[in-house]
Amino acid sequence: MTWGNSYDVIVVGSGGAALAGALAAAHRGLSTCVIEKTDRFGGTSAYSGGSVWLPGNHVLERQGVEDSVGAGLTYFSSLVGEHTRPEVQRAYLETGPVVADFLENTVGIPLEHRPFPDYFDAPGRSANGRSIFAGAISAEEVGDRLTDIRPMVAADQFGIELDRSMLDGGQAWIARMVLALDATGNADLMLSTRVTELVQDESDRVTGVVVAGPAGTPTRIEARAGVLLAAGGYERSAELRRTWQDMPTADWSSSHPDTGTGDAVSLAQAAGAALDLLDQSWWCPATLFPNGHAAFTLGVRAGIVVDETAQRFANEMLPYDRMGREMRERMRLGHGDGFWFIFDNRFGDDLPAICVPAPDRAEMSEAGLWHTATDLAGLAAAIGVDAEQLTETVRRFNEFAGRGKDDDFGRGEDPFGRFFVGAASPEPCLLPLDGARFHAVRLVLGDLGTKGGAVIDREGAVQRPDGSVIAGLYAAGNSAASVAGPVYPGPGVPLGSGMVMAYRAVSDMAGRLSAADATAS
Ligand SMILES: Cc1cc2nc3c(=O)[nH]c(=O)nc-3n(C[C@H](O)[C@H](O)[C@H](O)COP(=O)(O)OP(=O)(O)OC[C@H]3O[C@@H](n4cnc5c(N)ncnc54)[C@H](O)[C@@H]3O)c2cc1C
Repeated sequence: MTWGNSYDVIVVGSGGAALAGALAAAHRGLSTCVIEKTDRFGGTSAYSGGSVWLPGNHVLERQGVEDSVGAGLTYFSSLVGEHTRPEVQRAYLETGPVVADFLENTVGIPLEHRPFPDYFDAPGRSANGRSIFAGAISAEEVGDRLTDIRPMVAADQFGIELDRSMLDGGQAWIARMVLALDATGNADLMLSTRVTELVQDESDRVTGVVVAGPAGTPTRIEARAGVLLAAGGYERSAELRRTWQDMPTADWSSSHPDTGTGDAVSLAQAAGAALDLLDQSWWCPATLFPNGHAAFTLGVRAGIVVDETAQRFANEMLPYDRMGREMRERMRLGHGDGFWFIFDNRFGDDLPAICVPAPDRAEMSEAGLWHTATDLAGLAAAIGVDAEQLTETVRRFNEFAGRGKDDDFGRGEDPFGRFFVGAASPEPCLLPLDGARFHAVRLVLGDLGTKGGAVIDREGAVQRPDGSVIAGLYAAGNSAASVAGPVYPGPGVPLGSGMVMAYRAVSDMAGRLSAADATAS
């Protein structure tokens, strides 16, 4: 096969990490190619809330949030510890403000901070979080590119038509980054083109990729400076999940079935990369829908979660990854995956939580995923759990509610749980279940993507098991083993760490390219 086109930088994928890396390349004047295998840009990043966790950045300062890189690093490293290398943690934290500055002041993406507390009570925690978001953008401004942007998850996977006149959150990030790339004049963006192989020369240096385009003919594309794998994780590969995660199904991930199929991790592995954290995901509780997909569920305001023994097992107001880990542990201990969210009708029979998207009670009931009864015995019979135990679990919880203290799991004691209730103390987080009707909604262990993949160094370069670097190969986002290890420290760490490590990868490529050019001349 001869070379087709030639670029300085090839970026595989088109989520947050990929597009941030592509912008860093194109804005340096490097010829850049973004290759996306589906017919839409954005991957899971387009579904996301768009929170990007970058401590100590100028946007926080502008909005009066007291923070620093040092405080962020104290917090992050106290949680992640030795699970990942300190120099990579520092690289993420220290480059975060540089990337925020680049995106707003060089690329021109308006940024804003929105409060969302950090997820752990640890030194250096920020009550307001460290999240920045791309400003919302109108469909009019996005223009013809709108149809190229993956829609929100509600429309894309649940068939719910949504107003798309304004794009916010992850939608705004993807749209703004695609437009910004177009504006550089240095980037080719390909859809429906899948990278199937990495090309390596005799010294094992990665010099390009093989793609299968819409016509299906394989073509080689050259990368003079390097290839950045930013093609997401393997959450949608049933086989890889069985191998590495022992999960009952890949269907409950929040990503699109065609996106996170594990191509990047397989490509990296074939090139000789070390892999790590393969048993890890960004976990979350998820509401099971009649179509078999599961919807990210967070921000519990009332109710309890029980397993098949009708017992609580965790503080239901934990940050979602921590609650997901409690569910996973429960499953590891031999309990099934039959979790139920039990609540009463105090919120007008609606789910007292944020579910992306919100479920339709009638459709859920018809599918046996939502049951309603006027007493707990009836509800227990409907969901197949022991009625006496369910009654006792609710009695005990109501007793805690009466005293304003959850002796079992400390619910309401942490600011994160209180954030969604809008409470300053635990009491409003402990509402008794004593309404005229009781509901049970089926919950499963879902995720926002896997976080195991290629081991990278502080420049985002992919390493072999012996610690040497595979020249020309870089990884970021969910294609790389996460710098956060088995921890989800705060809102926006998946996108934030992915975007920063992609930026660093491209900076490294650019430095090596100019050094090589200088030697050649
Ligand atoms: C509802 C929801 C809300 C969330 N909110 C947040 C949030 O606010 N903040 C946050 O940080 N995280 C959030 N997350 C998690 C976050 O969205 C993901 O972890 C993150 O987007 C992953 O980014 P990525 O760039 O690694 O991959 P992706 O965004 O998934 O992009 C990967 C792309 O690569 C493409 N690809 C795969 N293989 C190939 C191939 N062989 N050739 C070419 N292309 C390929 C895929 O099709 C896909 O488009 C949320 C997730 C969900 C579901």
